[in-house]
Amino acid sequence: MTAKEKTIALVAHDNRKKDLVEWSEFNVDILLNYNLICTGTTGTLIETALVSKLGSDCDRLKITKLKSGPLGGDQQMGSLIAEGKIDYLIFLWDPMEPQPHDVDVKALWRIASVYNIPTAINRASADFIISSSLMGSDYTPMKKNFSEYLNRVVDL
Ligand code: PGA
Repeated sequence: MTAKEKTIALVAHDNRKKDLVEWSEFNVDILLNYNLICTGTTGTLIETALVSKLGSDCDRLKITKLKSGPLGGDQQMGSLIAEGKIDYLIFLWDPMEPQPHDVDVKALWRIASVYNIPTAINRASADFIISSSLMGSDYTPMKKNFSEYLNRVVDL
């Protein structure tokens, strides 16, 4: 899979949205090589910022907006991970405030772990992922073999 076909999921809690918008602007040249999938509000803010930065070049931006996180967007994202449609997850979360959809966030991170998706939970780890030489390569994360689990005997 080339970088062009890979997809980065972007999410930020409200207090981290400024961080993620700045990060996206800083990394716009790399992000243009990927499909971007965002939760609703995060996606709108990133799109507005990048369109304004790119000007007439903005038709190169490939961004899909899901529902807002607390309204199901995180769950939509998790389902796309389970379907193999997301390659990286950048989720700048707010460690200082409880969220109404904490359980959805946990579910998203869980499914990202199940499918071994490179995941960043803060800006520094997002920097490490986006600057990795593996990012633009044909690297495919190893998938755990769940056949033992799938073939387990369930007593009825
Ligand atoms: P939002 O959702 O981008 O729609 O604000 C983010 C989140 O899941 O908290």
